[in-house]
Amino acid sequence: MVQVSAETGAGRSGDPIRSVVIVGGGTAGWMTAALMAKRLEGLGVAITLVESSSIGTIGVGEATTPAIRDYFREAGLDEAAVMRASHATIKLGIAFDGWAGEGSRFFHPFGLYGTPSNGVAFHQYWLKLRAGGDLRPIDDYCLATQLAYADRFLPPPRPAPDYAFFDWAVHFDAGLYARYLAEVAMARGVRHVDARVRAVTRDPQSGHIAAIDTEEAGAIRGDLFVDCSGFRSLLLGQALGEPFIDWTDLLPCDRAAAIPCAHAPGGGFEPYTRSTALAAGWQWRIPLQHRVGNGYVYASRHISDDEAVATLIGRLEGEALAEPNLIRFTAGHRRQFWSGNCVAIGLSAGFLEPLESTSITLIHSGIERLLQLFPDRHFDPALAADYNRISTLEYERVRDFLLLHYWGNKRANEPLWQGCRDTPLPDKLAHKIRMFTSRGRMVRYEWDSFQDPSWLSLFAGLGLLPERWDPLADFFTPDQISGAFDRIREKIAEGVASASTHRDYAAAHFAAAS
Ligand code: FAD
Repeated sequence: MVQVSAETGAGRSGDPIRSVVIVGGGTAGWMTAALMAKRLEGLGVAITLVESSSIGTIGVGEATTPAIRDYFREAGLDEAAVMRASHATIKLGIAFDGWAGEGSRFFHPFGLYGTPSNGVAFHQYWLKLRAGGDLRPIDDYCLATQLAYADRFLPPPRPAPDYAFFDWAVHFDAGLYARYLAEVAMARGVRHVDARVRAVTRDPQSGHIAAIDTEEAGAIRGDLFVDCSGFRSLLLGQALGEPFIDWTDLLPCDRAAAIPCAHAPGGGFEPYTRSTALAAGWQWRIPLQHRVGNGYVYASRHISDDEAVATLIGRLEGEALAEPNLIRFTAGHRRQFWSGNCVAIGLSAGFLEPLESTSITLIHSGIERLLQLFPDRHFDPALAADYNRISTLEYERVRDFLLLHYWGNKRANEPLWQGCRDTPLPDKLAHKIRMFTSRGRMVRYEWDSFQDPSWLSLFAGLGLLPERWDPLADFFTPDQISGAFDRIREKIAEGVASASTHRDYAAAHFAAAS
């Protein structure tokens, strides 16, 4: 029997938060400031963002998931204007090259496959035809994938039949994006202080943060502190001593080298991110309007920094536009994301490598959750407990999705990849894989950012396929299914033919001024 105490502050509403202090002016800080300023408008809450231009931001983070467009909407941003300002391109998904063996490719689209029938998922019929010898890839039944491969784009019709339903995300220049958000936030009344935090003062009774002490602007007091200070985790990690849960044993990469380069002459402007598996990790390629973002995410146990940088430079398609940016990281998260009157959002809360571009999505869901559970000055511990419970589940689900890429790899003769195949899996992921590889059944867990089609793209792409299918798919004969599949492919081909090239679409809707 759980006892519920009335001493938590719940029910007392006379002590509203009057001041929020955000520490950090990277993507996390400005996303928090812009959305909070909108949602708290008129409530008399002063928002101050403190950042140090002498420290700077991490300077990477260019690919997103479709949730970014929900953020644009919620924060009251004009999508085309943000895209123009940040030299953005469209992202229909991610192409994974070499993960299922040298020369292989599969695609994780932000869209659905085929059409379910009789209450049975499309892929069950696909599995049935496959067992009968029809080896067409599941990619053939997804409009988003086919558009991506054809370098084309057209927003899907609404409502769309399942096979034509997709969503899209964006690639953008993270620095330009943060600058755009800063202008929006400041226009909404957020106070910007350029100062370096050198100490944190805590209330001796509650242990809460009372003020931050800065070199240039003295003490800045606040009711609620949002730690967006990046990997330093100045408030939650350093001042409050919140421990870090380390997942390096599951996700082996711990460094990245990033170098932007020019487009190759006449070169690609594809509407997707490319992730290419390499001997000691993987390389990202993110095409923007004005340049291409490149990075090598690697395991330092398997390659030196110098070798990693040389490998990346050797693979650039155009002239390097900056010196290599070398970044060290540890996969995992702070045990609590919210402690006392401090909530960490962004890299200060945790980091899962950029394989599925989830960090900015996690920033957005963190801000949303904080606004949904917005405290008063009593800081009811139940709010923090719920925030921490959900955030942990969300991080674990993303971790498991990333882990499946590594564990399911089919690369030969490379110690990193062999080790990944031998990694013992967390129970929930192991169960999910077991259920899929027996009869294609999807297990869903709460707070999973990735829906069934995303998991399906990986299972199919990595060849983790069952020999059997849902017996309810036997309601139709193989000939009936083949006929329906032919029609879906025809419709998808018509959809692709009617779309513009990505470059033309960008020129018409969000081309950056050059
Ligand atoms: P930062 O950008 O590091 O900002 C920290 C801020 O805190 C800065 O403004 C700094 O000045 C301030 N600060 C620090 N110390 C002090 C101090 N003492 N006083 C005052 N101010 C201080 N995410 C994606 O969604 N998609 C991707 O494709 C992607 N790729 C990535 C690739 C790599 C290799 C890495 C490491 C990350 C990637 N990320 C990606 C994550 C993404 O970069 C971050 O989530 C995002 O940039 C947010 O960073 P941040 O704002 O938390 O931290």
